[in-house]
Formats: sequence, structure tokens, C-alpha cells
Amino acid sequence: MPETIFSRIIRKEIPAKIIYEDNLSIAFHDVSPQAPVHVLVIPKRQIDSLDDAEETDASLLGHLQIVAQKVARMLNLNETGYRVVMNCGKDGGQSVGHIHYHVLGGRPLSWPPG
Ligand code: AMP
Repeated sequence: MPETIFSRIIRKEIPAKIIYEDNLSIAFHDVSPQAPVHVLVIPKRQIDSLDDAEETDASLLGHLQIVAQKVARMLNLNETGYRVVMNCGKDGGQSVGHIHYHVLGGRPLSWPPG
């Protein structure tokens, strides 16, 4: 599991617009936003993708979803709704090999995704 740019963000070696952090996770604005609000929620411990997660990671993954909810509330997305999505692997559109949730909102989001 090679390190990704997200490890450097966690260690504060490169800048990111961090909006939430706790002992297990960190959330920051996506550098290439796909919606008016686009935040990434990642665990500090690297898991490459959802396909690499183990049963013992269940509480960490649940924690990330609660952090996504906190972030959405901080940015008032809960008033109009938002989307939390995780891409997995090549066909899923995953480009960074450190598991993460996208929190997207601030406009109506179409479905199905492309
Ligand atoms: P995914 O394609 O699902 O793996 O999502 C990776 C996301 O990370 C993309 O939306 C990128 O725009 C975002 N990203 C890559 N590098 C950075 C960075 N240095 N700071 C913030 N977001 C980043």
C-alpha cells in the first residue's frame, strides 16, 4: 500500500483546506470541486479502497459517515440535501488509493452518475 498525497495532507506537509479533524479522520475541501461544496472525508489510517476494508474496519467506516454528516451540517448542506459517495477501483472512478468519502452539495445532483 504505497502512500498517497492524502498521507502528506494528514501530516500537514502540503496545504489543504481542512475543515474538520479528530483522532481518526480528517476532512478537507477537494482541490477540484465538482459541486459548490465538495469535501473529502478520509481516515488517518490508510486503507487503499473499500475493496481492501476488513470487517474490523466497520466502526472506522461508520465514523467517517458520521463525520460526513457533521461536515454537511457545518456547511448547511443538511438544509437542502447532499450526497455522500465513495468511488472504488478503476471503473468506480477512484483516482487516489486512500479510502475517502466525497461530500457533495450546494446544487441539485443528477442521478444516475455518469
Ligand atoms: P477519487 O477520484 O474518488 O479517488 O477522488 C479523489 C479526489 O481527490 C478527487 O476529487 C481529487 O480532486 C481530489 N484531490 C486530489 N489531490 C488533492 C489535494 N491535494 N487536495 C485536495 N483534493 C485532492
